[in-house]
Amino acid sequence: MATRIRPSTKRCAVIGGCGFLGRHLVEQLVEQDYTVTVFDIRHTCHLPGVSFHQGDLCDKQALFTALKDVSLVFHCASPPPDSGDPALFHRVNVQGTRTLVEACREAGVQKLVLTSSASVVFEGTDIKNGKEDLPYAERPLDYYTETKILQEKIVLEACHKQKDFLTVAIRPHGIFGPRDPQLVPILVDMARQGKMKFIIGDGSNLVDFTYVENVVHGHILAAEHLKQDSPLCGKAYHITNDEPVLFWDFMSKVLVGLGYDAPRYHLPYMLVYGIALLLWILTLLLGPLVTIKPTFTPMRVALAGKHHYYSCARAKKDLGYQPLVGLQEAIAQTLSSYTHLQRGV
Ligand code: NAD
Repeated sequence: MATRIRPSTKRCAVIGGCGFLGRHLVEQLVEQDYTVTVFDIRHTCHLPGVSFHQGDLCDKQALFTALKDVSLVFHCASPPPDSGDPALFHRVNVQGTRTLVEACREAGVQKLVLTSSASVVFEGTDIKNGKEDLPYAERPLDYYTETKILQEKIVLEACHKQKDFLTVAIRPHGIFGPRDPQLVPILVDMARQGKMKFIIGDGSNLVDFTYVENVVHGHILAAEHLKQDSPLCGKAYHITNDEPVLFWDFMSKVLVGLGYDAPRYHLPYMLVYGIALLLWILTLLLGPLVTIKPTFTPMRVALAGKHHYYSCARAKKDLGYQPLVGLQEAIAQTLSSYTHLQRGV
């Protein structure tokens, strides 16, 4: 009888591999001698030695083709949080993830590592040193978070449903670093429009910002420690820089580092949150008639004005995780990659 040869554990696919995190992950996997396939709806990232499949996560046949001979899958595809389209979030994060799990099982993939988010437990109240056993948010502040919760449940529940199929979720928080299309560019854009003069609340809230290289490191460690009977199966892991920082200090460092003024004037948290809530309700009511995209959503205001930092003790214990790059160094590396966004350039 012919023996089925298993694909090497170093043959992997990165779903969403053209995105900010995905591309950093792909580069590091190549560096560590993995054979990498990228699957993404965009076709913007051709890297030497990496095979590329353009396709939609919701298309099982396309996934199946890309996953041939792959033993490990990283899933970091998602619409951006500010796309504000409930149907799109549901289609990609929920249906797409379900399709991916089915395609993985049918293709004989052995391990699936999901990029979840620490926000799955955040519902706008302070979280200090939150652990992974906090309950999922009952009332998530946006559709993105709502679908990230459903997505994580789908992936973690799939662990062990079929022999030899193992899953784990990484929950990063506030990823930043070179080539990020969100945090620094949005901040600079707001500064240029004169919207970064204000501090929401008293400015004393501590949060996690996590350098992209550390997030990548957490993903690869999780993949390598995910084995039959390991404690990782079906579990979530916070990956942070393990250096909570004052939210407004971090913002000021980035802005000042690029030549813009630091925010100075305080606005009461409840006032800004109330306005954001009102605008959000208006966008829901007027949605069918006009497209409004408010800069300040309730989620953004809560993220800017509340404590939200997380313990990564579980990742240290089970994965041997330690951040590779400290916060100061990470900010310096990030700033030096955004010289094109400096004031006056
Ligand atoms: P990104 O937008 O830069 O990358 C996402 C990638 O997914 C893109 O390349 C996009 O083309 C791809 N994609 C979207 N829809 C797809 C579809 N239907 N089929 C195939 N590919 C599709 O986002 P990112 O910041 O790199 O985030 C990566 C992951 O990390 C996401 O799951 C996100 O929820 C999670 N996350 C991000 C942060 C952060 O601060 N950026 C924080 C916590 C968690």
